[in-house]
Amino acid sequence: MKCSKCDEKAIIKIPYANIYLCKEHFNEWFENRFERIVKKYKIFEGSKKVAVAVSGGKDSTTLLHLLNKLSKKLGFEIFGITIDLGIDMGKGYSSKSVEFAIKNYEALGVRYRIVKLNEEYGFTIDEAKHKIRRPICSTCGLTKRYVLDEVASKEGADTLATAHNLNDVAQYVFIGYFNGDVNSLARLRVVSPAELGYIKKVKPLFLTPEKEIMTYALINNIPFIYDSCPHTFRVGGPTQDKIRRSLEEMEDKIPGFMLNLVQNFEDKIRPWINDVPKLTLGKCKICGRPTNNDRDICSFCAIRIKLNKISTNTTINGSE
Ligand code: SF4
Ligand code: ZN
Ligand code: ZN
Repeated sequence: MKCSKCDEKAIIKIPYANIYLCKEHFNEWFENRFERIVKKYKIFEGSKKVAVAVSGGKDSTTLLHLLNKLSKKLGFEIFGITIDLGIDMGKGYSSKSVEFAIKNYEALGVRYRIVKLNEEYGFTIDEAKHKIRRPICSTCGLTKRYVLDEVASKEGADTLATAHNLNDVAQYVFIGYFNGDVNSLARLRVVSPAELGYIKKVKPLFLTPEKEIMTYALINNIPFIYDSCPHTFRVGGPTQDKIRRSLEEMEDKIPGFMLNLVQNFEDKIRPWINDVPKLTLGKCKICGRPTNNDRDICSFCAIRIKLNKISTNTTINGSE
């Protein structure tokens, strides 16, 4: 099939836009849309130093490349944060992921920080899997949010960019409707302003389909880890997995389904739920960071207590 914009051979069909694109025109189309979204949702308005969370996968490495270009145009600084989660399971998953992240930082000349969870926080995700009685992806997600927020703030960033793509956000929106969970829908934001002790967080890829990110990464030779995390099959549990697969099947039948779901949520529904009362956060008596539960110890410190890495008598400066 020929490209809809020139005589070259098309490498991808974009069903919801009813176009075929060659490599050059796909790159142009993909990057222009990224810039349009950033502008429309004022994603980096006021940002001067942006921390990019890079796991080494296709989404985050692509985001790093896109932000590296955009930061020069918009005049903000970027730097990368990669967490070595200590996921091994005989496959060396975390070490390989970190290697891919570093390859991208070095190729682009982007400053970065590798956080070794085991060295800096005293445990690995594999260890938590065996000792904590909660789904491992829930522990891992909570850990990543805590560490990224803390490290980005310490490094002087005013914004933290994460690589959630359209498929991720569509799943979250759909599950929010499914459960009637207005609070979780209200918390889903493209731009979460800095408040209540948290840094500003942004999701610049929230309208970009996963398949297009994969295509962009492959045709531009962006190095990324192909392997899935050995814990992946547990993500979200069976119902959430089924919902994700159903959404992707729906996308095949009704091109643009996910885009409509997420864009209409953001543009038309979100203004109606902005008034949902915010969580009243306390201050963790161990680390001093915000707590979003009724206790005086945050969920991350609670995990470290369960793993015997710290005790309930530990104070903010680390002494007993
Ligand atoms: Fe963490 Fe689960 Fe993702 Fe693996 S699949 S990196 S354990 S959240
Ligand atoms: Zn073309
Ligand atoms: Zn804490």
